[in-house]
Amino acid sequence: MVFEWDSIVSKLKMSAPSLYVWLEKSTASWDENGNKCMIEVPSGLHKKNLNEKYSEEILNILKSAINESVSFAIEIKKGDSSQKGGEPKITIKQQQMPLPLDAPAGHIPYLNTKFKFDNFIVGDSNRFAHAASKAVAEAPGQTYNPLFIYGGVGLGKTHLLHAIGNLVYEKNPQAKILITTAEKFIFDVVQHIGSGKMADFKEKYRSVDLLLVDDIEFLQKGIQAREEFFHTFNDLSNLNKQIVATSDSPPQELNLEDRLKSRFAAGIIADIQPPNFETRVAILKLKAKDMNKIVPDNVLAFLAEHVDTNIRSLSATFSTLVALSMQTGNEIDLDLAKQALKVTNPSFDSNKKIGIDLIQQIVADYYNIKVQDLSSKKRPENIAMARQTAMYITRNLTDYSLVQIGQYFGGKDHTTVMHAIKKVEHMIKSDDKFKIAMDELIARIKK
Ligand code: ADP
Ligand code: MG
Repeated sequence: MVFEWDSIVSKLKMSAPSLYVWLEKSTASWDENGNKCMIEVPSGLHKKNLNEKYSEEILNILKSAINESVSFAIEIKKGDSSQKGGEPKITIKQQQMPLPLDAPAGHIPYLNTKFKFDNFIVGDSNRFAHAASKAVAEAPGQTYNPLFIYGGVGLGKTHLLHAIGNLVYEKNPQAKILITTAEKFIFDVVQHIGSGKMADFKEKYRSVDLLLVDDIEFLQKGIQAREEFFHTFNDLSNLNKQIVATSDSPPQELNLEDRLKSRFAAGIIADIQPPNFETRVAILKLKAKDMNKIVPDNVLAFLAEHVDTNIRSLSATFSTLVALSMQTGNEIDLDLAKQALKVTNPSFDSNKKIGIDLIQQIVADYYNIKVQDLSSKKRPENIAMARQTAMYITRNLTDYSLVQIGQYFGGKDHTTVMHAIKKVEHMIKSDDKFKIAMDELIARIKK
């Protein structure tokens, strides 16, 4: 098939070394739609491990390499089990994990029920795209039509597209919803032409109430499909049926016929930008809640600080952190977060700048308290003083923003940080002893 298994496996090797071990001797084949991957592995142990421990990672990698509606199944290679001496003699009860993408009965195929508006964090970077999507889902065909969402990789386009489908379905289970990718659309056109069944094709696409097409940039690759898409588009919009498309770039930058571009431009165009720090923290918090993990604020701040362009990588780094903590039995802390970041981002260098962790360590030692106290809600005089001092020093020795500092010190508001800094500045001016102590502390940190 079109998708090279080897190249997918090498991606896995980069992102999850332990997973790679279990896939090293695997092969894969695809179903005729290119949507379901059959992974063949050498033994039942491989199958059990992959299904039980790694199905989420495998799915994520497949999704990012192929598309969001891809699914997979793992089978034991025929004639390849147990004859080799090295195979462990373990009897395994075969159990197939339900795959997250299996559509429940009566549900729209390929609609991923995990992508909802409820679990989409809204920030400045995606506020408009979110609002437009919600409006469209609440009154399909009556507000913005078509809706065109564009933005970089891993910023939530597919999530919003599925959220629209899910909400429309919840409100009206009778609605005819078709969710696809432009790549699948091209494939479908080619197949129907090949089998001489274009009438079926037209019926399939033009009888829907809501057409959701992901990654429209793929249309740049299929002239014939573009023609079909144009007609589908016209017919649906003449009937006031809702169309939503996503893309990696705005319509005007796509290499498509002007008539198609102007169709998109006639509706509403919403972009999604990379999320800011606060949104990234909020996304991590949601993820932690989802996975039932309690994660210290400074760890959230650290991950949000270092993975700043792509929500998919942010999630992957978080999952890696959770996996590391489960494998090693270590609790989730800053050290483990650094390790996780090294796995997902090999170029990460933890010694590059003075870290808040160093400042916190030295300040805590100085005041004779625990590092955790700095991020707690505790208010005794000495702890409060230590916290304010550490915030002040962080502001002066690093380029962290007030918001970032607040997050590192237990999710405090930026105004609290501001207040702390002002207070320490005032004390430095008015109290010579305090100033000397502060100079000494800063000298220690700089060393
Ligand atoms: P894109 O289609 O733009 O490449 P996706 O929609 O696949 O990106 O998003 C990548 C991952 O990040 C998904 O797991 C998605 O659920 C998550 N994600 C993206 N944006 C948000 C958000 N605003 N809130 C919560 N999760 C998000
Ligand atoms: Mg996508």
